[in-house]
Amino acid sequence: MRRPCVKPEHRPRRLPNGDIRIGGEIHGLAAEIEDPTGLAWQALQLMDGTRSLADILDQLPESAEIVQALLDSGHIEEAAPDPPDLTAAEQVRYARNVDYFRWADLTPRDTPWELQLRLKRARVLVLGLGGVGTHAARALAATGVGTLHCADPDVVEPSNLNRQLYGERDVGRGKAEATVEALRAVNSDIQVTGATTRIATPEDLFEAVEGFDVLALCADEPKGPDGIRHWANRAGIPWAGGGYTGPMVSVGVFAPGHPCYDCLLAEGERRGVHADHSWPGVLSTSAGLAGLMTAQAVISLITGVPDTEPGYAYGINLACPGDATFVRPTSRDECEICGLDRQLL
Ligand SMILES: [Zn+2]
Repeated sequence: MRRPCVKPEHRPRRLPNGDIRIGGEIHGLAAEIEDPTGLAWQALQLMDGTRSLADILDQLPESAEIVQALLDSGHIEEAAPDPPDLTAAEQVRYARNVDYFRWADLTPRDTPWELQLRLKRARVLVLGLGGVGTHAARALAATGVGTLHCADPDVVEPSNLNRQLYGERDVGRGKAEATVEALRAVNSDIQVTGATTRIATPEDLFEAVEGFDVLALCADEPKGPDGIRHWANRAGIPWAGGGYTGPMVSVGVFAPGHPCYDCLLAEGERRGVHADHSWPGVLSTSAGLAGLMTAQAVISLITGVPDTEPGYAYGINLACPGDATFVRPTSRDECEICGLDRQLL
C-alpha cells in the first residue's frame, strides 16, 4: 500500500481504557485493538492518506509490526488507487456499490474497484423467472454482473402480477423474453440473454450450467427428493437457492467443497427448517425478499463479501419479526455429494 488511509466509515475512536475501537458499530466489521503503548493510535493518526508508508515508518520506526497488522486488518485503504479498468459511465453507475464494498470488505486491496470488476467478469445463470427470479435478476443486473442468462419456460399470467416484476402489458409474453427486455432497460452495459428452457431432468440442468460461474436457482419445480434443488446439488457449481414457505423466506448458499444441500436438509429437518417450498401463498414482499436474498448470496459467492464459507441457509419469518434462522450443517460421512467433493479436493 503506497499511501495508507483509514477508511472514513471505519474511523477509530479511543475507549476510556485506552484501547481503540475501529470499524464503527456494525457486528462483523468492528474490532477493538489493545494499545497499551499508544503506538497504534499514533499510527492511525498518520494514516490519513497524505503520507507514504515509508514516511509513516520513518516517523514511528518502532511501530512496524503494528502498522503491518493495521494494514492487514481491512480498515485501511490505498488513498491513491490506480484508475479502475471501467468506463467513466460505469464508474458513475457503480460508485455506490464500491462505497458499499470498501465499507463491508475487510480484505486489503490495491483498488476499491476490484470487486466491481469481479462482478463485471462474472457469468450468472438465473433459472426461474417468477417472484424470486425476477427480483434476483433485476438486482444482479443493477449491481453490474457482466453476463446474465435468464431461463424460464412459461408465459406471464395475470395471477403472476401480484409478485413478479412484470407489467400488465407483459401478460401472454414469454417470461424470458420480457425479463431480458426489462433487464436491458435497467443496464445496457451488461450482456443479458434469455431462453424459454424447461429443466426437466438432471442432465438438462448439468448442461444448462456449463460456462457459468454461479447459478441463481429461483425455480421450485420439480419439487421433492428428486427435484431441481437436488439436481443443482450435483451440478458442481456454486449456487444459491431462494424461496418462501408462506411467511418463511430463506436462501441456501452452496459450493463444491462445502457442506451440500442434502446435508443441509438433514440438519434442517432436525432443526425444523423447511427448505423445500411448496405452498402458493405469497406476497410481492415475501417473493421479493427471497429474490433479493438470492441475489445477495450470488454477489457474495462472486466477490467473497461477506467472506462467509458456503454451505449454509438463513431465513427470516415475516410472521414473527426477529425470528431469524441460520443453519450451517456439517458434511455427513455418508454423503455421496460431499464425498465426491472430498475426492476432487
Ligand atoms: Zn453433503
